[in-house]
Amino acid sequence: MHATIMYGPGEVRYERVADPSIEKPTDAIIKLSASCICGSDLWPYRGLSPQDGPAHMGHEYCGVVVAVGSEVKTVKPGQFVVGSFCLSDNTCPHCRFGFQSSCVQREFMTGAQAPYARVPLADGTLVATTEMPDADMIPHLLATSDVLGTGWYAADAAQVREGGTVVVVGDGAVGLMGVLSASQMGAERIIIMSRHADRQKLAREFGATHIVEERGDEGVARIMDMTEGVGAESVLECVGMDESMRQAIGVCRPGGTIGYVGVPHGVTFDGQKLFFWQRRMLGGPAPVRRFLPDLMDRVLKGAIQPGKVFDLVLPLAQVAEGYKAMDERRAIKTLLRVDE
Ligand SMILES: [Zn+2]
Repeated sequence: MHATIMYGPGEVRYERVADPSIEKPTDAIIKLSASCICGSDLWPYRGLSPQDGPAHMGHEYCGVVVAVGSEVKTVKPGQFVVGSFCLSDNTCPHCRFGFQSSCVQREFMTGAQAPYARVPLADGTLVATTEMPDADMIPHLLATSDVLGTGWYAADAAQVREGGTVVVVGDGAVGLMGVLSASQMGAERIIIMSRHADRQKLAREFGATHIVEERGDEGVARIMDMTEGVGAESVLECVGMDESMRQAIGVCRPGGTIGYVGVPHGVTFDGQKLFFWQRRMLGGPAPVRRFLPDLMDRVLKGAIQPGKVFDLVLPLAQVAEGYKAMDERRAIKTLLRVDE
């Protein structure tokens, strides 16, 4: 088959590779129904995270099981499945505590920007549907694998509550999913910091009630105005830069909580400031597996349509253009069609 390989910054190729096969008795092989490009794929694409040789790309996936190893018990060939980008056994103490993304056997999914992929730890990672979903459900189900799961975790970690005030820092795909999640959790006021008209429109569709275009200190001041000088009790940091983290801390009220899911690049904290700021913080890679059954259920019931976040659809063979479009911010998120 062909698959997506990143050779270095800006260098993505769709080229012939060996077909994936069962390597461990806990593996499954799936035929992807669709794949996509993650905002985090742009870190190595932009040369902002070091890369150790050519890498098989892709960690967001859904599709049909075609083979399983001898120890796999919960999924079988022919079933439609969605899995988390963090591979987990779902049985260790961290998994049972709801933090599958810190599983003692944790691995990160790779190789999903391809027609077929190997999923290690299949039993603990994959969730099957009872029926084969309709084709128009695929983008929404694919979104639960990472981007929605991560936005949901940001809202969950930020302790979003019914009737609450929420600020979302970042209008990328994860930030938009954070808005949708906060809305599903019943937040009354959802303020997103965004200066892109197309993203503001989508944010409104997902449940944002206010848009703040100012950034930095100005953005913080604007939100403090809107909240009578108090700040928000729940803040979702969905970028991972020093400036966005300052904004998140700046708009959070004392005793409030920041859920941060943007992988930090160049973010530092002063211990004493942190002490006197008196904000809760919880971040890290999202334990999507904890939320997957619920999120898939919401999608299949038609309660949410997270797949609207895909504003560019390309055949898998044009994956390089998909990266370019996201890098140049011509696209929020690229869905890759699997035709092979
Ligand atoms: Zn585990």
